[in-house]
Amino acid sequence: MTRDINMVDLKGQYRALQSEIDAAVLEVVRSAYFIGGPKVQAFKENLGDYLGVKHVIPCANGTDALQIALMALGLQPGDEVIVPAFTYVATAEVIGLLNLTPVMCDVDADTFNVTADLIEPHISEKTKAIVPVHLYGQSSDMEAITALAKNHNLHVVEDNAQAIGADYTFADGRKKKTGGIGHIGCTSFYPSKNLGAYGDGGAIFTNDDDLAKMLQKTANHGQSKRYYHDVLGVNSRLDAIQAAVLDIKLKHLDSYHAARQKAAAHYDKCFGDTPELQTPVRAKNSSHVFHQYTLRVKNGQRDDLKTYLQENGIPSMIYYPVPLYKQEAYKKYWNGKELPATEKLSDEVISLPMHTELDGETLDFICEKVNEFFRK
Ligand SMILES: *Cc1c(COP(=O)(O)O)cnc(C)c1O
Repeated sequence: MTRDINMVDLKGQYRALQSEIDAAVLEVVRSAYFIGGPKVQAFKENLGDYLGVKHVIPCANGTDALQIALMALGLQPGDEVIVPAFTYVATAEVIGLLNLTPVMCDVDADTFNVTADLIEPHISEKTKAIVPVHLYGQSSDMEAITALAKNHNLHVVEDNAQAIGADYTFADGRKKKTGGIGHIGCTSFYPSKNLGAYGDGGAIFTNDDDLAKMLQKTANHGQSKRYYHDVLGVNSRLDAIQAAVLDIKLKHLDSYHAARQKAAAHYDKCFGDTPELQTPVRAKNSSHVFHQYTLRVKNGQRDDLKTYLQENGIPSMIYYPVPLYKQEAYKKYWNGKELPATEKLSDEVISLPMHTELDGETLDFICEKVNEFFRK
């Protein structure tokens, strides 16, 4: 039996929309509107409607989105920005690049996200912003985090690269999509993200008109008018071919989420009786769009499980194996105190194949092999 199991299946996803995508890409090529133009404009508007945010500023990738967001806030060198220690490096990288100080915060071991309680002790006189990351596809507790930020007069920049489309529910029942809750939201359209382009891409969101102008300007060489440069900016654009692809995939995003949620439910059911595993804990106030399906292996055999799966043709990934503060480039920001949940998760997490094209048979095979490992 040969199976081709992948962490993500971009070919299968493309085949399902092939004629529509081919036509849209060809249209861009024939129009020669490669940068800006109608496709970028349409995608901007449609994404804003989908997320319920007033302003969408497309850019070249998710890392740029984060950098531009922090630049637009006008922070000064030495200002502190609180970030989770358990995240993808980009979140902290841009802070360091701007000569700001990343202050690394522990996460909740169940939801993998920072909480207001974990953030609060890190707030100092130099703190200017918090960057919560909605890791693996569900929202951080944004009501508590934005309330804390308001009390301390801090900016909130959401790193929404992994949770685009997730719904956060406030105590009064109102719902908002992640990325539109803090002052600024950032996302990535890296091909394997839930809304993935056919190359690099990213976007920045805000409901604040002044911030929107500043973000727009910063992403475009600091110019508000052509050849008039008010501030230092960068050159960061989403190209029209990516926008054309993304605009088509956006219409399918909710059905992609449904497919991911179905696969996650399948996994949950299979691992419910496996005492060595903790299945993903659902956050109280958030839907889960399952960018990753991430288990915790609680008996110290995470790496052996990974090897066993590999021997059986099943890929898996460790997001992320080393806490940020133990990375060579980030040690200088560390006060030497280990963060217990971050340490534990770095040793315990493993992400299984998760994408929109997983069928029941494949899921059963993966489940069988995972459970077999613990019973052998
Ligand atoms: C993917 C990702 C980014 C960066 O996005 P790029 O488009 O690769 O620059 C930032 N933060 C998180 C949490 C991510 O998952």
